[in-house]
Amino acid sequence: MRPEILTPLYQSVQVLPKIGPKLAGLLGRLTRGTDGDEARVIDLLFHRPYSLIDRQRQPGAANAVDGEIATFELHIDQHMAPPPGNKRLPYRVTGHDRTGEMDLVFFHAHAAYLEKTLPVGEIRYVSGTVEWFRNIPQMVHPDHIVSAEDFAVMPLVEPVYPMTGGLSRKVFGRAVSFAVDLVPKLPEWLDKTVLEPRNWPEFQQALIQLHNPKALSDLEPTSPHHSRLAYDELLATQLALAITRQKMKKQKGVSREFSGNTGRKIIAALPFSLTHSQTTAIAQIQADLRKPERMLRLLQGDVGSGKTLVGLMAMADVVEAGFQAGFMAPTELLARQHFQTMQPLCAAAGLRIAILTGKDKQSHRKAVIAGLEAGEIDILVGTHALFQESVAFRDLALIVVDEQHRFGVHQRLALSAKGIAVDVLVMTATPIPRTLVLTYFGDMDVSKLMEKPAGRQPIDTRSVSQERIDDVITGLQRALANGQKAYWVCPLVEEAEILELTSAEERFAALKSVFGDGIGLVHGRMTPAEKDAAMASFKSGETRILVATTVIEVGVDVPDATIMVVEHAERFGLSQLHQLRGRVGRSTGKSSCILLYKAPLGETAKARLNILRETEDGFRIAEEDLRLRGEGEVLGVRQSGAPTFRIADLQVHADLLEMARKEARLILQRDPDMQTQRGRDLRILLYLFGLDEAIRYLKAG
Ligand code: ADP
Ligand code: MG
Repeated sequence: MRPEILTPLYQSVQVLPKIGPKLAGLLGRLTRGTDGDEARVIDLLFHRPYSLIDRQRQPGAANAVDGEIATFELHIDQHMAPPPGNKRLPYRVTGHDRTGEMDLVFFHAHAAYLEKTLPVGEIRYVSGTVEWFRNIPQMVHPDHIVSAEDFAVMPLVEPVYPMTGGLSRKVFGRAVSFAVDLVPKLPEWLDKTVLEPRNWPEFQQALIQLHNPKALSDLEPTSPHHSRLAYDELLATQLALAITRQKMKKQKGVSREFSGNTGRKIIAALPFSLTHSQTTAIAQIQADLRKPERMLRLLQGDVGSGKTLVGLMAMADVVEAGFQAGFMAPTELLARQHFQTMQPLCAAAGLRIAILTGKDKQSHRKAVIAGLEAGEIDILVGTHALFQESVAFRDLALIVVDEQHRFGVHQRLALSAKGIAVDVLVMTATPIPRTLVLTYFGDMDVSKLMEKPAGRQPIDTRSVSQERIDDVITGLQRALANGQKAYWVCPLVEEAEILELTSAEERFAALKSVFGDGIGLVHGRMTPAEKDAAMASFKSGETRILVATTVIEVGVDVPDATIMVVEHAERFGLSQLHQLRGRVGRSTGKSSCILLYKAPLGETAKARLNILRETEDGFRIAEEDLRLRGEGEVLGVRQSGAPTFRIADLQVHADLLEMARKEARLILQRDPDMQTQRGRDLRILLYLFGLDEAIRYLKAG
């Protein structure tokens, strides 16, 4: 399937000299962000250097500058091993050049090895950091020691890459240079009119230049080679999205017929009336559903704007038309919560709703699956993992995807590949800037919930130093005595769920000694039943403080909780804090959010906390977040561990994105099945960026 010309790039890095399974795994973790997957040659090629070491300076020993990296041509004079029994003294090799003497210093040295690499009486080129010691320049553990012959071919400017523990620069650098040698010359898929005015090199050349920077300017994302590769990546993504969309448009959708009576029963059962935005969004969705084309709509709405209800209304319409609907939540906790809030509304409207999660008992699972097949269940709520497995519906017509930034190109491709030809409504809380919508969702139609439900008061947000935690606890005692409820979110411990758990358990114990039994704990390691129980007690008011890890970050809805305390707020990102704060302020009561921080605060952390105090406008917060942290983090890529873009950086390449989108459309207009020579060349591009799923659609045509 994959063009043969790309085979060398898809081999495991184990084909490179001196790379075994262990290094291949480490390199996989570094370049693919996954554990257990070996890196392939292409993964190394897409790993970008961020800096460089310049060894071009050759000042001569006497003129060497303390602390600087330089290279010297030394005549090796003498080896001085430390006296036996004194291992703490270094092994010293003296040498000289035209200008003066220089010492090379080695700790824990292997004499035999040094005698071989630094033979007395010969010339060796050494490169490293110079230190002056007792009026003699010396170099401790030179980075390079080479003969004149090897020096002639040694690059004097070395790229520096992001690294991971257990991997040395040298090993990585060598692996990359072998990898670069494997890049074949590929047919050009970009148009001359794109390449020439910008001075962009061809693909192979661009990769060579990416890994052989000669000056700092070569590391700029705006440099010709980097821009070209970024454009390649953006074009591949946009092309994949356009192909998917073309395919979806071709597959005839079904026009759903319904009167809207079921939905009206839901509205009648609500204790409030819909906001204007909700009404508009519902109408837009109804129009989509009635059209004989497939719906692909994004519902954007800030935290607390009431997206769930809009999703439920869409499902009600589809069921009324005689079909089934699925609701995908990002976590089990949320799936359960949604099920619980929807259940009474569904009952009022005569809809049969069920829930299925990965941890359910076999008997429950069997019953639900049978119910789905028999058409006895109208709406299924579950996690998205579940929908990617083989749950068979009798007549699935709509999938609602909740709070899912990561539902990007790959997920879309995966879902469609399962043959699920349904209408899709994606709901997202972080109002994503337009460039990002384009990139991750392609040409989706967008509905927006502009306002919050009536009567919501601004959330009083304060940052308080961790040293004043006792005051916070005292304040909390007072608030609880007044009948309020509070969340207490424990510090985020990056990449260490266990530590996060420990800190949550410790905080729980400490608060329990103050507040007694009215306190609950919820974290990611609990069983679904335990989580349910903890949430239920908090909802009912049996517990009035809920200590939690970030599992409650997204979507949790307990309207009468009015206080949010976040410990070590400086460790969280802006959007995350905004999400957390969005757990309160969900009713007409006055809410507050206390951001505990550990002083002193860094500049970025300070900026983040200030923005939160200034505004509750999710859109502004998202844009600030983008500015402070880059797009990958905004979209939660860090948490999922899956890199979205490997080369492109939207903060720099936004104009290229727009250009790629237009070109992708044009390509498909002219050559819908990508059968021309250029079309075939562009298929290589799709393979290069792992978007081969899209190619299947072309074949199936
Ligand atoms: P989000 O958009 O963050 O997913 P939810 O759908 O969880 O928000 O809704 C937040 C809260 O607001 C819920 O308790 C929900 O019942 C309530 N809500 C939704 N729509 C309205 C409305 N029109 N008026 C008042 N409250 C509403
Ligand atoms: Mg929600």
